[in-house]
Amino acid sequence: MNTLIAGNWKTNLLADSAQALAQAVRDHCNQTNVCVIPPALYAGKVAELLATSDVALGLQDISDQGMGATTGDICAQQAVDVGAKYVLVGHSERRVRQFETSDLVARKALAAASAGLVPIVCVGESLDDREAGRHEQVVGEQLAPVIQALGTVMDCVVAYEPVWAIGTGKTASAEQAQAMHAVIRRMLVDAGKGQTKILYGGSVNAANAAELAACPDVNGALVGGAALTIESFAVIVKAF
Ligand code: PGA
Repeated sequence: MNTLIAGNWKTNLLADSAQALAQAVRDHCNQTNVCVIPPALYAGKVAELLATSDVALGLQDISDQGMGATTGDICAQQAVDVGAKYVLVGHSERRVRQFETSDLVARKALAAASAGLVPIVCVGESLDDREAGRHEQVVGEQLAPVIQALGTVMDCVVAYEPVWAIGTGKTASAEQAQAMHAVIRRMLVDAGKGQTKILYGGSVNAANAAELAACPDVNGALVGGAALTIESFAVIVKAF
């Protein structure tokens, strides 16, 4: 199965540093399985820099509505127009801070896929959920509406990101990651979407990438902090 290594730059960088990082990714990681996800404001510039490369562009969020009166949002057609191939939906930072529900995330995934984008659907349990032993149930409930909305025809990528591992320096062990990825794989197989890539995210770095990459159901990584320097991002890309 192919892999995907996506660098989620979140709300970091300014125009100059975003362009410099895009150039560095283009120069050191020029592969079709690499994607950068800059702040939307800089997506146009980054797209220009990547135009002659194999590196793909993604956006961090999308409206569930089409073009029209949704102030502050970006619609799927605009994401396509700027040159994006991927779009994150349901990142835990949005589920928590913007109160995004799994039904809204499913509508965003559908809007993205209908426009020809590949949604990267983020799922993951909180520390409380894991300690209470309900992590598989929570992730299953987050994923089910998306699978239903997309059906067998529309493609997506799933990113498993345990909330307690994001930006904390605390990674899920390879065993924990593989166990959850196997649960997600079963759901996808049952829905006729067994070929879907499942990425791991949450404090992936140059030191732990190879161990995660060795897990049979880990098909890539969604990388935050370690995607902000080319040194660490290039090592992670190589590990997959
Ligand atoms: P992190 O972020 O690698 O900094 O933990 C990952 C993410 O939130 O996508």
